[in-house]
Amino acid sequence: MKDTLNPFKIAQEQLDDAAQRLGLDSAMHELLRWPMQELKVILPVKMDDGSTNVFHAFRVVYNTARGPAKGGIRWHPDETVDTVRALAAWMTWKTSVVDIPLGGGKGGVICNPKALSEAEKERLARAYIRAIARTLGVTKDVPAPDVYTTPQIMAWMMDEYETIMGEKHPGVITGKPLPIGGSQGRGDATARGGIYVTREAANIHGIDLKGKTMAVQGFGNAGQYAALLGEEILGLKLVAASDSRSGVYNAQGIDARELVDYKLSNGTLKGFSNADEISNKDLLELDVTVMFPAALENVITEENAHKIKCNILCELANGPTTPVADNILYDNGVIVLPDFLANAGGVTVSYFEQVQNTYNYYWDLREIHRRLDEKMTHAFKGVHEMHLQEKVNMRQAAYLVSVARVAEACRLRGWV
Ligand code: NAD
Repeated sequence: MKDTLNPFKIAQEQLDDAAQRLGLDSAMHELLRWPMQELKVILPVKMDDGSTNVFHAFRVVYNTARGPAKGGIRWHPDETVDTVRALAAWMTWKTSVVDIPLGGGKGGVICNPKALSEAEKERLARAYIRAIARTLGVTKDVPAPDVYTTPQIMAWMMDEYETIMGEKHPGVITGKPLPIGGSQGRGDATARGGIYVTREAANIHGIDLKGKTMAVQGFGNAGQYAALLGEEILGLKLVAASDSRSGVYNAQGIDARELVDYKLSNGTLKGFSNADEISNKDLLELDVTVMFPAALENVITEENAHKIKCNILCELANGPTTPVADNILYDNGVIVLPDFLANAGGVTVSYFEQVQNTYNYYWDLREIHRRLDEKMTHAFKGVHEMHLQEKVNMRQAAYLVSVARVAEACRLRGWV
């Protein structure tokens, strides 16, 4: 992988910029450049045909100065330790930017989930937890879903952890199904948080979103809900969406609910009627009001940044934009809502889930939405103020807010 596309190198470069602007001393800067703990594990898992597959997996704890680590588990064939490190770093800045008392971590398993049966997924999920259980716990490190992991997988993982511990620990993992300690509103929380910050950005910039267009790259959990809530809350019209295999486009508009139902029942967007095919590349370059990248890293680079025409780029995915691309977008006046602010709704409701698990009393959906809106709006305003005050782009502003908070926690603990 080219260094310019290595997510961890990118995360470090972004941190370096913030450290310099904040005037952090060299020890603090060095501390914040690296994960504090990394675990690499090998998982032998029995396949349905009786053979054994050996999977490589990771759990990285980046920084716990502000609280126990928090971060999802990604199952992907291209997973690398550097991707996990980058995602763990971004989790640290994310929990800090929304000011919840947690640190950052991330997990990953190198596998192709599309080639695994349900039973094989369950054995893999349990094997992963057995391998890393000693480093998990509500006071240490709490995982959650990410790309290609689901509430069902979280349920198996929690069950395995509780079996090992011999007692109930619902807060050890979030994103669980409702009947076993999940939270109302966790399913759409990532997208909903992104919708709230898009609303705030549009208000501040005087953009009326009603009847305007949106496109979604990556039609999974975050992307599908972005389309549904973009329509419902902001009055946006969906004109294009894509997944790993195909994309659909109709300038007249696509009914978000119909497209989600189609994807859920067919597993693909291919064959959806009333729309033309569009590539992922062309989708990103559409002239829409709001673009939601909601798939993977490095989709907006120096190659295509000057062709991005949307007014607002709401980064639901982690790391979709490279630093060089960032500068081009800024110069071209694209309003970028940076990933660890825009997609912080997921971890915020995960935090609410942990809180509810701890006091064993559960809030209704209205309460979750109210608290999430409050957190996201407050975080957006803090970052926007920093952007105006320091005359930096929104990503740099988000870094300044987050890194300063984590550095202060490290200092108060006497680490540096
Ligand atoms: P998901 O597994 O539900 O969906 C991922 C989607 O991306 C799938 O539809 C897949 O087909 C599509 N995809 C994969 N490769 C693609 C490619 N090359 N081009 C276009 N589409 C592609 O995952 P998710 O939970 O929705 O996560 C999506 C992004 O959002 C990731 O970057 C993730 O880290 C980030 N995120 C997720 C959460 C969460 O709570 N789920 C929270 C914060 C951030």
